[in-house]
Amino acid sequence: MSNETIFTKIINREIPADIVYEDELSLAFKDINPQAPTHLLIIPKQPIATINDITETDREVVGHLHFVAGKIAKELGVDAQGYRVVMNCNEYGGQTVFHIHLHFLAGKPMGWPPYTEKLKA
Ligand code: 5GP
Repeated sequence: MSNETIFTKIINREIPADIVYEDELSLAFKDINPQAPTHLLIIPKQPIATINDITETDREVVGHLHFVAGKIAKELGVDAQGYRVVMNCNEYGGQTVFHIHLHFLAGKPMGWPPYTEKLKA
């Protein structure tokens, strides 16, 4: 199964995106439908569909995404104030694009928990 998504097209510059960071392993760009004053997506250039598809050989690149999050936070000056990174997985996680990505959300206080339905006892 090909795991080429819209994010591969962004990596290959086949569709536009507001790219804020790039290195040999990763790319970060503004989310098209921002949920916070700053909402970036940090993705590996190598397509991996979901967290479930991460293998031993992907560990460096997956860890790298968090390194990039911290680097961007410092560059944006939100490191001390705080921010959230989250990676959704499959239906219950709310994943809609099947190329793993860290959401980087900053610029306002985040709420918790991320669901409103009460857990049954
Ligand atoms: P998910 O729901 O998979 O965790 O997150 C996918 C994210 O990708 C969503 O927040 C959505 O707004 C964003 N997104 C989907 N298509 C595009 C696109 O073409 N360009 C950009 N910049 N973001 C996109």
